Amino acid sequence: MKKLALHWKIIIGMVFGIIWALLSSAMGWSQFTIDWIDPFGTIFINLLKLIAVPLVLFSIIGGVANIGDPKSLGRMGGKTLGIYLVTTIMAISLGLLLVNLVKPGEMLDEQSRIDNRISYEIWAANEGHVIKDGINYLQKPEYFERAQEISELSKSQLKDAAVADKMKSVKTGENSTPLQPLVDIVPSNFFQSLSNNGRMLQIIFFAIFFGVCLLFVPSEKSLPVMNFVNGVNEVFLKMVDIVMQGAPFFVFALLAGVVSKMAGDDIGKVVEIFKGLSWYSMTVLIGLLLMIFVIYPMILKFFVKKIPYKGFFKAMSPAQTLAFSTSSSAATLPVTMECVEENLGVNKKISSFVLPIGATVNMDGTSLYQAVAVIFLAQMHMIDLTIGQQITVVLTATLASVGSAAVPSAGLVMLIIVLSSVGLNPAWIAIIFPVDRILDMFRTVVNVTGDAAVCSIIADGENMLDYNEHENPSETFDLDS
Ligand code: ASP
Repeated sequence: MKKLALHWKIIIGMVFGIIWALLSSAMGWSQFTIDWIDPFGTIFINLLKLIAVPLVLFSIIGGVANIGDPKSLGRMGGKTLGIYLVTTIMAISLGLLLVNLVKPGEMLDEQSRIDNRISYEIWAANEGHVIKDGINYLQKPEYFERAQEISELSKSQLKDAAVADKMKSVKTGENSTPLQPLVDIVPSNFFQSLSNNGRMLQIIFFAIFFGVCLLFVPSEKSLPVMNFVNGVNEVFLKMVDIVMQGAPFFVFALLAGVVSKMAGDDIGKVVEIFKGLSWYSMTVLIGLLLMIFVIYPMILKFFVKKIPYKGFFKAMSPAQTLAFSTSSSAATLPVTMECVEENLGVNKKISSFVLPIGATVNMDGTSLYQAVAVIFLAQMHMIDLTIGQQITVVLTATLASVGSAAVPSAGLVMLIIVLSSVGLNPAWIAIIFPVDRILDMFRTVVNVTGDAAVCSIIADGENMLDYNEHENPSETFDLDS
């Protein structure tokens, strides 16, 4: 009998996970699910992340050194960053277009929006912001009392949503110079960078530096190092193969845990959460789906004629389903690399350089979502952002997506910076917090798909793409291969 392809097994695992969560919520077993099933999901993510850090290190060193000459490395590096930047700006523009068309924040009733506006003005006045346009509701005595009530409300909401920690972690980094992000890329102690998954950019910096230096060392000295690096890489890829055999079960546990945590013992809660934020969630989802099913295929059709529409999805589906269930592009990276190499036929020389960088700096889904979220929150507080402010959103969302770690909810944390950049209250992340985990799953799929699309373009441009339509992607994770 023909073996079921891995992505189908993962999808079945996901469906069973959701069914289990709903069932356990209805039967009052949510705590059991959280205590006894959810931890297997965490083990799975840990296993993948465990592989991701050393894989990034060794594959970039190998990738850089295998390219052979510094000139082509410079050309490829420039191209990689350039195309990543273009796709990110496209994603943000699409997000801005959609949110300005749909206007999800204006779907609220007028009174709530006025209340929101008042609470914003209180906050802005406390922060020393000047409100230039719009009505100053605080001057009207009938609103004043209501205003005090609301400001109390937003304080308690903030606590409830456990957003306070997230704000604190961003605040710590605030007292720095404009060049701090650049300074942060250069580690003073490489072993410290290795011990923190959020320091991927430092690992990439070290790996590129090491790989380039390897190019300048006489070959009798560099060859053993190269062989070692390539050998270690193979071991990590084998680890991915083994871990992926358990993916359908692990994904079941992950989804059961995520949904149970949202629903508790009351399924109706999930529906309620989504009802209030349905227009916002829909706008983000439409944008993300357009990226996956229209924008990337169009870019591919234009630049890489070899890969057909269906072929691309068939090749990438294991990575996409995994991105959806883990919400982490870093955890998905090892599988993204296998899919791109084995199924799309991208030469390892390209993928091992382009993909780890992409997983860290190229997050089109995250940046699109940040653009929609900021404008949505402004709309629901009756604040019209000027074109200038929207351009600021494009710039900060681009930087914020580069700075977001490739782990669950990182985009939400970085949203604080985007909100602050246009003078909005960062505590508003509490408003969209309830639906964020689910949207995170979709935006991570976009992040991973975007990396793969750009990687194929670069490989094709370098004549290193050997796509074979008739290969069977389901064999990617065959232990005997
Ligand atoms: N979870 C996303 C990723 O890993 C980042 C985010 O948008 O939160 O790609």
